[in-house]
Amino acid sequence: MFLESDIKLGFSDVLIRPKRSNLKSRSQVDLQRHFKFLHSRHEWTGVPVIAANMDTTGTFEVADRLASHEMLTAIHKHYSIAEWDAYLASRNDDIYPRIMVSTGTSEADFEKVSAILGKHPKLEFICIDVANGYAESFVEFVAKMREAYAEKTIVAGNVVTGEMVEELLLSGADIVKVGIGPGSVCTTRVKAGVGYPQLSAVIECADAAHGLGGRIISDGGCTCPGDVAKAFGGGADFVMLGGMFAGHDECGGQLLERGGRQFKLFYGMSSTTAMDKHAGGVASYRASEGKTVEVPYRGPIDETVRDVLGGVRSACTYVGASALKELTKRTTFIRVQEQENRIFG
Ligand code: 5GP
Repeated sequence: MFLESDIKLGFSDVLIRPKRSNLKSRSQVDLQRHFKFLHSRHEWTGVPVIAANMDTTGTFEVADRLASHEMLTAIHKHYSIAEWDAYLASRNDDIYPRIMVSTGTSEADFEKVSAILGKHPKLEFICIDVANGYAESFVEFVAKMREAYAEKTIVAGNVVTGEMVEELLLSGADIVKVGIGPGSVCTTRVKAGVGYPQLSAVIECADAAHGLGGRIISDGGCTCPGDVAKAFGGGADFVMLGGMFAGHDECGGQLLERGGRQFKLFYGMSSTTAMDKHAGGVASYRASEGKTVEVPYRGPIDETVRDVLGGVRSACTYVGASALKELTKRTTFIRVQEQENRIFG
């Protein structure tokens, strides 16, 4: 047994220290990033916020709205090939840099994603997603994908430590997804006792990835626009959001009515709800590692997008970063024991 005694930090353990700035307005902040990916050599320009590939947030409807803000959506893996065909038949080429096709690592997953990519060769991003990115078989799957799809930009995760980020990048991933346990409907830390505070995971993994020319996505744990700013400040190239994008018109999940108020169902992809829906129930050897919650209905997603992007722009103006690209180098985190004033909730 080993014990690492330096403290690892989550978003709620820090604030960003303001710095002198000559920016006059948030409107002067450029949120676009431009990346050339390590293996695919593909060039991408956009606003690096991604809707999570969950049933509820990784929908075609969410993708259409986020694309209009130059943001990305990782489309969940449960759409049929026919649904993909129908969706892409009615969209123009502008959609391809704005969506990722998600896959698990089974033989059936490989065949399905290959069929989708075969029919729609303009798809640029593949998101290989497993709860635990530490398995040797996962690394082998990433390498197999890279061999099959030299020109696709491959996202692989999730992991939380630098050495595994390096292994995935060296095995063919362009972008590594970082986060184990921070998610709004995740119970891994409770069920398995495993995890890593998200801000420290981002700081350490970004350092490892950037050393090799790779990129990272901070996935999970953002509860407010300030957390998104902290993730970027910590070195994340992209930030993925589930709970913050839940509850909107464009989301999947049932709309419910209770006591005159409306709610939308939101659930983890390892929850009993998801496993009942997609895998015929929770297998006897495992525990569900996700929650099912009812999120107050929030209307169109555009308002939330504006709130998130406005928050990140604001963070940039407080530290004098005229572009999102500069936020990390202008960020000094201070460790704190308080966040917002809760007197009014
Ligand atoms: P959020 O933005 O809601 O805090 O986190 C979203 C992320 O939580 C997803 O992108 C995914 O990585 C993770 N996640 C989604 N469903 C589950 C689940 O059922 N269990 C666990 N452990 N993580 C989940």
